[in-house]
Amino acid sequence: MTTYDAIILGAGHNGLILQAYLGKAGMKTLAIERRAVAGGGLSTIEDPHRPGFFHNTHAFFLRAITAMPWYADRPRAPRRAADRARAQRRADH
Ligand SMILES: Cc1cc2nc3c(=O)[nH]c(=O)nc-3n(C[C@H](O)[C@H](O)[C@H](O)COP(=O)(O)OP(=O)(O)OC[C@H]3O[C@@H](n4cnc5c(N)ncnc54)[C@H](O)[C@@H]3O)c2cc1C
Repeated sequence: MTTYDAIILGAGHNGLILQAYLGKAGMKTLAIERRAVAGGGLSTIEDPHRPGFFHNTHAFFLRAITAMPWYADRPRAPRRAADRARAQRRADH
């Protein structure tokens, strides 16, 4: 039988951030989500009434994310890759 140090109910962004922190601390975790996709209110879905139009189910503004403590704690590699891609796009123009 598999055992876990922590079980997280709900894979919204707060549950996922908690899981990332616990994993970073060396804990074995399991997040249980009742929906087919993770992300909770911040997951992106296709509007059933407007095919091809994708949006977050709750978000209507996305400010202050960079002020959140988890944003500073996130791994740096993806950001560097994004920076490199941005620099490449600038160089191409
Ligand atoms: C109308 C509205 C507008 C908003 N607009 C914004 C905005 O513009 N910008 C912004 O930053 N924030 C906005 N918010 C707030 C933002 O949506 C929430 O702060 C954020 O989604 C909370 O994340 P969470 O992980 O705590 O919960 P949630 O995102 O709600 O995730 C909880 C997850 O737990 C799952 N779950 C629940 N019960 C169970 C169970 N028993 N078993 C398994 N899974 C379960 C759910 O399916 C869900 O996926 C808005 C909220 C609302 C209601």
